[in-house]
Amino acid sequence: MSTLPRFNAHIAGEWVEPASGQYFETVNPWTSKAWAEVARCGALEVDRAVEAAWKAFTTGPWPALNATQRGAMVHKLGDLLRDHARELAEYEVRDNGKLINEMLAQCNYLPNWYWYYGGLADKIEGAVIPIDKPEVLNYTRHEPLGVIACITPWNSPLLLLSFKLAPALAAGNTVVIKPSEFTSTSTLKLMELIAEAGIPPGVVNVVTGFGNEVGSALVEHPRVAKVCFTGGTESGARVYQAAAAGLKGCTLELGGKSPNIVFDDADLDDAVKGAISGIFAATGQTCIAGSRLLVQDSIYDAFVDRLVAFARTARMGDPMDPGTQVGPVTTPPQYAKVLEYIAIAKAEGATCLLGGGPAEGAACGESKLFVQPTIFGDVTNDMRIAQEEVFGPVLSILRFKTEEEAIAIANDIAFGLAAGVWTQSIKRVIKVSNAIRAGTIWVNTYRAVSYLSPFGGYKKSGLGRENGLEGMREFLQTKSVWISTAADVPNPFVLR
Ligand code: NAD
Repeated sequence: MSTLPRFNAHIAGEWVEPASGQYFETVNPWTSKAWAEVARCGALEVDRAVEAAWKAFTTGPWPALNATQRGAMVHKLGDLLRDHARELAEYEVRDNGKLINEMLAQCNYLPNWYWYYGGLADKIEGAVIPIDKPEVLNYTRHEPLGVIACITPWNSPLLLLSFKLAPALAAGNTVVIKPSEFTSTSTLKLMELIAEAGIPPGVVNVVTGFGNEVGSALVEHPRVAKVCFTGGTESGARVYQAAAAGLKGCTLELGGKSPNIVFDDADLDDAVKGAISGIFAATGQTCIAGSRLLVQDSIYDAFVDRLVAFARTARMGDPMDPGTQVGPVTTPPQYAKVLEYIAIAKAEGATCLLGGGPAEGAACGESKLFVQPTIFGDVTNDMRIAQEEVFGPVLSILRFKTEEEAIAIANDIAFGLAAGVWTQSIKRVIKVSNAIRAGTIWVNTYRAVSYLSPFGGYKKSGLGRENGLEGMREFLQTKSVWISTAADVPNPFVLR
């Protein structure tokens, strides 16, 4: 019998053991050892969780609350998250091996989603329509959708969940969460705070386990009204098909291969830092990684030398140590994938300027998941290393001559999540940021997100938007109410 701490599912306000009695291990990427066990749920727990969420949506205290009362609870959850930020960040680091600096910054920032959407809950107004019919009052109401399925990946579990959970609750929906099988624990800890915030049992539920067991059962459940998914493009396509079969709404936040473009008039010190933060922060395990660095021909050699020199100094080590700059890759399959792409890049003829293999030695501790920060030069846009998402500390550098060529290379890809532009010219800023087909453009900065600004992908990077007002609209549907004040009902055989 294992002595590891056990984490169960959370359904209708209670901790629930899986009917199968099975648990799976969650492994700390820094120690390469299991540190906890998590319930391996199946279709049975999914059904219980969705039914609990449906009951909470249709009866009970949640729908009886007015929007101000609901918003106050969501706001209170933000306060509790603020008080527990460090604890939650440490759970995330134990699960995904990302830097404590990164996860703590994310967890400290999380309350804003709950404060913002909690405040927005009672400010969603319908309209009185100046209808063209006599003696009719017509107005609109924005109503919640029902049970929302939130499926999240392992790289930033609570941040990506909050993009969904805060607006879904504020809008009056109920929720079933399926966290990544690699990073379930911070989401389960969050459930304690949800109860403390006074959010009634059944309004938020968590089922844990694998995508093809629990995730697919959740997407297919007939009572789920909408699926909000963040993850890989292939899984996203499967989720989209399954949701379509049930005629459910779907938001998808998927993969990326974002161009980070450095023009010769850029502040090069800033651009070097921007290139580093685009790819080596978070060990490259971020959907918005600036993994395709486009550098103008006239500064290419000098810029690349500086970048490689800077990247060479990146400190690998224990992700819990605030001095560490590059941590391990999160999962063994991801580690194998990163090394495979490094081999592909070499075989394609890209020049390895830094790293290019597994990292070993004292800085890596007991972990078997470190990859050297790796930079490839002489990459051309037809190479797989320029076109496919690696999701690791591997940068591809491409050369361009003109603005037009930079735009053409940036857009010649299936993804469109984000892009970076480094230049001092305002004309160039406007021209290039308008021309790039991506959901977010950063100019002279990189990797910034806010609860206030819409986030989402063009092309195969996704569907729909999270954050800001647009993020709230994703969880509402509009009802048009017609009230006749006419003295009598006219000819019933004619459309009115
Ligand atoms: P993944 O697609 O393997 O898994 C994501 C989640 O979906 C997990 O909870 C998983 O269990 C579940 N899942 C998998 N298959 C499913 C199915 N058929 N039905 C229902 N659920 C299923 O992704 P990952 O490896 O956890 O995360 C990395 C990927 O996520 C990268 O491609 C990255 O770009 C992407 N990502 C995108 C964003 C964004 O906002 N665009 C943010 C972070 C990560």
